[in-house]
Amino acid sequence: MRDKSFLMIPGPTPVPESVLLEIAKHPIGHRSSEFSKILENVYANLKYVFQTKNDVFVYTASGTGAMCAALENLINEGDHVLCLVLGNFGNRWAKIASSCGAVVEKIEVDTGEVIDPEVLRARLAQDVNKEIKIVTLTHSETSTGAANDVKTLCKIIREHGAISVVDGVTSVCAMECKPDAWGIDVLVSGSQKGFMIPPGLSFLVANDRAWELHEKCKHPSFYFDWDAYRKSTRANSTPYTPAVNLFAGLNVALEMIKQDGIENMNARHKKHAMALRHALQSIGLELVVKDDNKASHSITSVLPPDGISVPDIRKIMKEDFDIVIANGQNKLKDKIFRMGTLGFVCDRDIITAVGALEATLYKLGYKFELGKGVSTAIKELA
Ligand SMILES: *Cc1c(COP(=O)(O)O)cnc(C)c1O
Repeated sequence: MRDKSFLMIPGPTPVPESVLLEIAKHPIGHRSSEFSKILENVYANLKYVFQTKNDVFVYTASGTGAMCAALENLINEGDHVLCLVLGNFGNRWAKIASSCGAVVEKIEVDTGEVIDPEVLRARLAQDVNKEIKIVTLTHSETSTGAANDVKTLCKIIREHGAISVVDGVTSVCAMECKPDAWGIDVLVSGSQKGFMIPPGLSFLVANDRAWELHEKCKHPSFYFDWDAYRKSTRANSTPYTPAVNLFAGLNVALEMIKQDGIENMNARHKKHAMALRHALQSIGLELVVKDDNKASHSITSVLPPDGISVPDIRKIMKEDFDIVIANGQNKLKDKIFRMGTLGFVCDRDIITAVGALEATLYKLGYKFELGKGVSTAIKELA
């Protein structure tokens, strides 16, 4: 049905009406005092959301832009970078590091698994000459739905002395993620995921240790240069023309997040992800991430029942129920489907999605106890 579409993909995510209306207004000048007031508010509220005392930079770029902004401000040719890889997004760090001329080493795990802290500890212990300058990791790996124990991993990285660079694109807002308290040296995120606004902005926060390494970076990125961004951010400005309408929308969305409370928002995401996981398991579906403790709270990957295809499930969900769910990526294409519960999502959406998925599977001939998933979700959410 026209205008009924509900996005349950891992970004873009649904956008609140008040944010959409704000974005729909005429653009304002980015050097106006009016815009500067918006920036002042946005920068302050971002520190609240990221739970940091450091400046949070906002780039007019998708999440990958902020990932480039991280590594292109830290790496010199020949630097040794260790990339902890759970899937596609972990691999993206490795590709960006290579593009900066780094010597890249990976620790990779099987689909749905997470990094074992002891494996990381053992690898870093071997590095007696401290050749590893940077360790990259992904908090919530969107391609599989697995989530690393970032707090523990960053503690191990800190003990070694390397700089930790964390992709929090589908974790910030959805999962507890505390750069200052956990010693994450650089953390990035993106607007179209937990922030409840459309694609086009991304975020980066770096601490003093990361800045020390940045000062040794001989050829930092021009567009993403940390020095230029710090100077402007502190002056409630931006170095170049930003996506002004998205900033206006972000301002409204951040007020909503603040009113809700970041802890409440995190807790709600956990409740939704667990309700969805248990509902799907109750109708006999197999999840890619078996252990609740290793699961992302923003994205759930599911294997289709035997004999039922992922494209058919996605097609009926879309055509009959106006719910858009994601396919697997690359080698997981048509092998799994992924349901996002990220950002502007409420209990009703979970119950509806489980109900629609049951109806879809019923139509496709899957044999299960009809209604069991919905009743499981209702009980878990209560
Ligand atoms: C979406 C996403 C990104 C960034 O992707 P863009 O398409 O550049 O916004 C990075 N990491 C993860 C884990 C993501 O889910």
